[in-house]
Amino acid sequence: MNKCERCGSNKVKVTLKMEEINIDLCTNCYDEFMSEEIEVDLEQLVETFSLKNYQGISRTFYVERRICPMGIYLEAVENIELRYDSNHAFLDM
Ligand SMILES: [Zn+2]
Repeated sequence: MNKCERCGSNKVKVTLKMEEINIDLCTNCYDEFMSEEIEVDLEQLVETFSLKNYQGISRTFYVERRICPMGIYLEAVENIELRYDSNHAFLDM
């Protein structure tokens, strides 16, 4: 399994292909790398949030962010047994 080349995390999500080298990064290190490259200051991201559905059942979502030159991609993923839902948005910068 590849490790993030900045922090050593096992959660590599992105491989940057740059000329003759590949760089494996986790989501957080990728965001830091991209914010440095395109000179955008990032605010701290809410990592999880919970809300109640129409039946009053609390549902918790995990938020991931990925920065690209065109904007910021946000994805909220609910990870529960036997079901996997996700919602995503693409925000202009
Ligand atoms: Zn990392």
